[in-house]
Amino acid sequence: MSPRAAVIYSPRYYSDIGPHVFPVEKFRLLHEQLIHAGDVPLEEVIEPAPASREELLQVHTPAYLEDLERLRWTERTAMSELPLSHQIVHAYVLMAGGTVRAAREALARGAGINLGGGFHHAFADRASGFCYINDIAVAIRALQREGRIRRAAVVDLDVHQGNGTAVIFQRDRDVFTFSMHQEHLYPVKEISDLDIGLDDHIGDEDYLALLATALPRVLEAHEPELVVYQAGADPYQDDQLGSLGLTMDGLERRDRAVLEGCARLGIPVVVTLGGGYARRVSDTVRIHLHTCRVALGLGAPPRAPA
Ligand SMILES: [Zn+2]
Repeated sequence: MSPRAAVIYSPRYYSDIGPHVFPVEKFRLLHEQLIHAGDVPLEEVIEPAPASREELLQVHTPAYLEDLERLRWTERTAMSELPLSHQIVHAYVLMAGGTVRAAREALARGAGINLGGGFHHAFADRASGFCYINDIAVAIRALQREGRIRRAAVVDLDVHQGNGTAVIFQRDRDVFTFSMHQEHLYPVKEISDLDIGLDDHIGDEDYLALLATALPRVLEAHEPELVVYQAGADPYQDDQLGSLGLTMDGLERRDRAVLEGCARLGIPVVVTLGGGYARRVSDTVRIHLHTCRVALGLGAPPRAPA
């Protein structure tokens, strides 16, 4: 059976960022596991083209893009918590292309999964956090510009607020930004269309109840023609950067609430990975794997006893 959702990936999502809390090997590990477990045949994985300069310019300023191209350390690039190299810049531009491709596939097939992306801290004119290019915004703008969608929504469930995405779309009434995140945590908060700031250590049931009250406002009231889901793995209870209390099971129920909610309403959905800094990289990869499986409509395998 051919999966309904398209899977987008390139080995060049990896770039050498040196010793870092951001596990850039997770892209490769996730791809490997999806292939080895038979979730998706290798030949069906789509290798994306890098986002074009035109596509990037729909979101980012020329001065900032020029800094990235020329590897200039300026006030625009220095807010990143990453090194700057051609390999790194290329990986971000490629992952933005991956989210654009996933969005195009989503319109045709119902869902598109980028095994990367979700870089929601990047602003139009500067880097922030571990984010150089806001692939979420690039994808939405690309499809709007092609006239394929007008209204879109971002469902950002990373432990960190989607600050860059919020600002980029602040004056755009066609794009609804929803972020549910740990309140007392990086970054300085911006204003999304709907923000839910969570207390530290919130558990599965309280989290899922809040999500259930918010989703109708995003998916039903706004009536988006495309949803981009930033499925960060960092609300996990063993994350090194966040301190929410979600279990793997809770995170999978979160994914089902979003993805099955979109499917029920017939809204095409794009999945991007976002953050994930569990003490064990294998945990982060497993959380992303579960998200992919929900999107592929295959369901996660029974969990091993704890
Ligand atoms: Zn995060």
